[in-house]
Amino acid sequence: MTQENGPSRPLVIGLDLGGTKMLGLLMDDQANILKRVRLQTPGGGNTALSHNVLDLISELRDEIGDQARSLIGISIGAPGFIHQESGTILDAQNMQLHNLPLSKIVSETFGLTTRVIHDVKAAAFGEACFGAGKGMRHLAFMNIGTGIAVGLIFDGQIYQGSAGRSGEIGHIRVVRDGPDCSCGGRGCLEAIASGPSLVRRAQAVLSHNRSTSSMWVSSNRRLDLVSAEMIAEAARSGESWASALIEETADYLGLSIAGLINVLDLEHIIIGGGLSQMGDLLLNPIRKAVNRYVLSEYIDIVRILPSALGMDAGAIGAAAFFFRHPTNE
Ligand SMILES: [Zn+2]
Repeated sequence: MTQENGPSRPLVIGLDLGGTKMLGLLMDDQANILKRVRLQTPGGGNTALSHNVLDLISELRDEIGDQARSLIGISIGAPGFIHQESGTILDAQNMQLHNLPLSKIVSETFGLTTRVIHDVKAAAFGEACFGAGKGMRHLAFMNIGTGIAVGLIFDGQIYQGSAGRSGEIGHIRVVRDGPDCSCGGRGCLEAIASGPSLVRRAQAVLSHNRSTSSMWVSSNRRLDLVSAEMIAEAARSGESWASALIEETADYLGLSIAGLINVLDLEHIIIGGGLSQMGDLLLNPIRKAVNRYVLSEYIDIVRILPSALGMDAGAIGAAAFFFRHPTNE
C-alpha cells in the first residue's frame, strides 16, 4: 500500500476498537492509507471509550486540513453484539460496553455519516476486498486471539445471520464437560484454543514439570511471564512440550474449521488475530488437522491462508465497508 493520494479522492476514517488498542486509519477507496493513529483502549465503559474514539477521529481528521471536504464518512469495527442499522454496541462484555449509541455520538460530533460493524466481520470484509481473499466470492476469516470468531463472506457480502450474531465459532462445544468458557458454557473451542487458553495450558504443564523448558528456567520460573510468544519460541527451539501444546490447539481449530467447510462448502479460510502471528508453526498443523477432518472431497482443495492485512484488517475492512455501502440501505 502506498502513501499517495490524489487531492480529490473521497476519504473515509476506519477504526478498529480492540480490547487493548484502538487503531484508526485515514483511507481512500483503494486502501491507500494517509495516516494511522493508535491509542490505548481505556477501561471504564461507555463514556471513556466514546471520549477516546472522538479524540482518535479528531486527530485523523486534522491531518487532512483543507482536504476535509473529501472526508465522506466514518466506519468503526467494534467487538460484541452490534445493532448495525442504528450503529449501537448493545453488549461488549470484555470492554464493559452496554447500549452505546456510538454511531449517533460520532455522527453528531463530526456531522458525518457513521457506521458501526462487528470487528471480525469488518476484518473478513477487509481481507475479501484488499487482502488474502481478494477476488474470492466466498470465504471465512477466523480471528484467533483472546476470543475466537469467524467473519463469513458470501458472494462478496458480509453474512450477518438472523440477528447479526453470526460467526461465534468460538462457542461451539468441542469437549463435552471441558473447561469453563466466558459464555457460561463448558468445553467451547474458545476455552481450549484461544491465546489465553493456550497460555493457561502451558502454565499447567510448566508448574508440574519444573525443568521441562530452558526458556521457562531463563524467565526465572515465573508463571505470569508465560505468553503465546514464549510458547512459540520454545517450540521453534525444539522443546517438545511447546510443540505438543500448539499441535493440540491446532487440532481443535482444524476440527472446527473442517465442520465449517463441510456445512458451508468453503474453499478459502483466512486466519488472523494475535495467535496467527505464530505463522506456519500454527497454520501447518491446522492444515493437517483440516485435511484429517473434512469430507474427502475437500482434502488438498481447501486453502488455509494467513491474513494479508494483519492487525490493519479490521480498520481497513470497516472503511471498505463504508465505501461499498455509503448509505444505510
Ligand atoms: Zn463459550
